[in-house]
Amino acid sequence: MASRVTGQPMFKLLEEAQALERSGKDIIHFELGDPDFDTPENISNEAIKAIKNGHTHYAPSAGIHEFRVAIQNTTYRSRGFEPKLNQILVTPGGNPVIFLAIACTANPGDEVIIPDPGFPTYFSAINACGAKSVSVQLHEKNNFELQASDVINAITEKTKLIIINSPSNPTGACMQPEQINLIAEHAKKNNIYLLSDEIYARLILGDQDFYSPGHLDQCKDNIIILNGFSKAFAMTGWRLGVAIGPENIIAKMNLMLNTIVSCVPPFIQYAGIEALEGDQRAILHMRDKYKERRDIFIEGLNSVKGISCNMPSGAMYAFLNITNTKLSSDQFAHKCLYEAGVAILSGNCFGIYGEGYARVTFANSAININEGIKRLQAIFGSQ
Ligand code: PMP
Repeated sequence: MASRVTGQPMFKLLEEAQALERSGKDIIHFELGDPDFDTPENISNEAIKAIKNGHTHYAPSAGIHEFRVAIQNTTYRSRGFEPKLNQILVTPGGNPVIFLAIACTANPGDEVIIPDPGFPTYFSAINACGAKSVSVQLHEKNNFELQASDVINAITEKTKLIIINSPSNPTGACMQPEQINLIAEHAKKNNIYLLSDEIYARLILGDQDFYSPGHLDQCKDNIIILNGFSKAFAMTGWRLGVAIGPENIIAKMNLMLNTIVSCVPPFIQYAGIEALEGDQRAILHMRDKYKERRDIFIEGLNSVKGISCNMPSGAMYAFLNITNTKLSSDQFAHKCLYEAGVAILSGNCFGIYGEGYARVTFANSAININEGIKRLQAIFGSQ
């Protein structure tokens, strides 16, 4: 298994950028989707209170009762159905849900359909499980929205799982509800599980509403939802995520999870309750800031010679077309880092269809975004 794991390439670039910083170079970071905001104070305070109240021991491996009830209620409010407690698994971040869902639905040799460009963990986890990733290309002409017809065409007898991700990393695209419904319908008809990666659900930046397929079967039959606290709540370092799915799959995922990590620390889960049920103002403020930054960033990027970029409607990323720079994606990222002091990810990190593109995140201040644009203009010119 170890020889097949490829991991998350963004961490490699971060290390490289930090090595340059240690040697005295000033770097602007647009590589890692890690909010520059602090975790809202009301959330942190709940964890501190929980530690002081002695919630520092093992917890039930699927998650503490109060937190799963909070997830139940939130799911009802946001997605219109109330999963049973046995359908909910609390995890240390969103990433483990991807691995566990693949491990519990696909055997070695089975196929898993994923959007490409897509989140690198999909590729790494599928490979690690000995399954085969089947890339469905996202097209810039469709605003990078995954098309149901392309997914349906990719289904074979070996397909066990389809992964969708809306809003998307790396493109920021949101899928149309009809497209999601069509994929769900075909998944059900063909006895295929559907993993809906909804980690950016609260980061809708356009006019449309967030749409989840979860209500279609109430996650009882073949739909699994991934959600997490890292992004919208600025809690990347806390490691808190959740899976909602069919009871039998969640039970298996739970066994695998408790084999590896036993449980998620209970005081982290108390912070999770506050994130879901406490004061939401800080969270809405962050979302508004992402919108502002997105607008500044997209305008700035389109002013750099050789770069063009669609307006992303969600998440915290912009996906740049860099073909007019006449550089490969890797060359472009290298030039940005070493000549401009701007850390940008090569589109290649996100699959075979990422070539010709690069990803930036706007989880950075407007000041840094403006400075980064200036540096890119200095290297590539303005248009
Ligand atoms: N899914 C997607 C699409 C992501 O972008 C990320 C994080 N970058 C995750 C899942 C995993 O999030 P976490 O940090 O909570 O493990």
